[in-house]
Amino acid sequence: MARPKNVKYIFVTGGVISSLGKGILSASLGMLLKARGLRVAIQKYDPYINVDPGTMSPYQHGEVYVTDDGAEADLDLGHYERFLDEATSQTSNLTMGRVYKSVIDKERSGDYLGATVQVVPHVIDEIKDRMAEQAKNGNLDVLITEIGGTIGDIESLPFLEAMRQMKLEMGDSNLLNIHLTFVPFIKAASELKTKPTQHSVKMLLGVGIQPDILVCRSEKQLSRDIKNKVGHFCNLNEFDVIGLSDCDTIYEVPLMLLQEKLDQRVLKKLGMKKFKEPVLNYWRDFCNKVKFPQDGEVTIGICGKYTEYPDAYKSIIESFIHAGASNNVKVNVKLLRAEDAELTAFDFAKELENVNGILVAPGFGDRGIEGKIKYIQYAREQNIPFLGICLGMQCASIEFARNVCGMQEANSTEFNKRTRFPVIDLMEHQKKVKEKGGTMRLGSYPCIITEGSKAHTAYQKFLVNERHRHRYEFNNTYRQNFEESGMTFSGTSPNGELVEIIELKDHRWFVGVQFHPELKSRVQKVHPLFHSFVAATKEYKRGVHQMELAVDMPSFVPVYNEPAQ
Ligand code: GLN
Repeated sequence: MARPKNVKYIFVTGGVISSLGKGILSASLGMLLKARGLRVAIQKYDPYINVDPGTMSPYQHGEVYVTDDGAEADLDLGHYERFLDEATSQTSNLTMGRVYKSVIDKERSGDYLGATVQVVPHVIDEIKDRMAEQAKNGNLDVLITEIGGTIGDIESLPFLEAMRQMKLEMGDSNLLNIHLTFVPFIKAASELKTKPTQHSVKMLLGVGIQPDILVCRSEKQLSRDIKNKVGHFCNLNEFDVIGLSDCDTIYEVPLMLLQEKLDQRVLKKLGMKKFKEPVLNYWRDFCNKVKFPQDGEVTIGICGKYTEYPDAYKSIIESFIHAGASNNVKVNVKLLRAEDAELTAFDFAKELENVNGILVAPGFGDRGIEGKIKYIQYAREQNIPFLGICLGMQCASIEFARNVCGMQEANSTEFNKRTRFPVIDLMEHQKKVKEKGGTMRLGSYPCIITEGSKAHTAYQKFLVNERHRHRYEFNNTYRQNFEESGMTFSGTSPNGELVEIIELKDHRWFVGVQFHPELKSRVQKVHPLFHSFVAATKEYKRGVHQMELAVDMPSFVPVYNEPAQ
């Protein structure tokens, strides 16, 4: 496949330890280059053998991110969208499993014409072809590729070899490697230690790659001496050693990298002409609001079953940061373990003492379901602002059926196939589905909003597009019964068949959504439902009992502009 000439490539790798923030680094660099007027896309290469993370437990992998076109993808794509304000897609997350699957499928079709199929060249060529395709289709100046895992892992070797070959083929000014490492601060010696970084670079050199720029994460700021030393041992100019010390919010990372001139070094090394200076007033203003909100704080409980592992709720937690800024409040998140609420002696009032709103999270399987339902009952009865997402909306429907409509045995057929009142049931087109991977109702679908509803007040729109990931849906047999008991179906699919949003009339703010609004909240486009929910928690905390329906949108988000699809 011909490789598009004018696209520049940046590979971001990580060394020493995991969790240093390659995703945030890639997203921040992308955002800075875009602010300079470049057309940028970011993608993630993951070394594991799963075709996508859709079948993995959130304990293994954190949240599964969903794109408009229905990919179940790595959560780093969420960072790319939130920072870059560009939609990712099916091709933005390539796993080694997908690469091997494609190679094996081609082998079975006889495409290799009798060759012995091997990692070199076939697997490497497959990776290079995918890269070229992505660059060609994107109408891009720069394609940033984050490689998952840590240097030294066996699994990621084919990705590194593809990078090495591409650099050789294209020349140094067309492809850069930015290597993110860790420079630990040793308290006893009161010193930053560079040895782990040196070792990590040696490992990269061992597979034939000289990093072009090092970004060094550290607790303390890197002095010029340290940069010099790192550069000296790693064959780099001190200006190509970028310090990235700990900061209060991930949204400050682009500003810190700007100060360290990472974007300038990148442009210089790629031989790109001077692009305009980035104007980041909005971003700075946003960070200020995150760090120093003027209107105090609220606490929101996120009820779920993966509470020991907040990465399972990544996009929700980030959406609260955006909505906190737009409401000028700090949003504290308290993770509520759903199963705890199943104990008979559970004290809701105590657990929720300082909680101003409850969100019931998405999920699968029956563990913790009864606890979630109890939290919802408490929120409904105590008039506490509530947002239910996907499974959270389904649980709110079950709770309403049981405790308001008098259908005590109501359930979802996901948890009880023979329930007497299947208020949540498998979608018709799911009934024949056998394979688990990539077969849910996935991606963006339109939703029509009812005038006068809380959803409409939030969105200020009659038609929105939201992302989905589910197999079950509200069972229309029960719609009339629910409506007569006080529930509003304020959002449906355009043909009216699928319930997308439920609300309670006699409640200050009780909204359940079948879709995932958290996947579309961005720094520059806070999601209206999160904004309104946080506004409601703020009002609730202030003790305003008769809340006005109209929620003021913040001045810098006048109308919700949906992120481009
Ligand atoms: N388990 C539910 C379903 O499949 C909800 C899924 C979710 O919360 N993403 O419909």
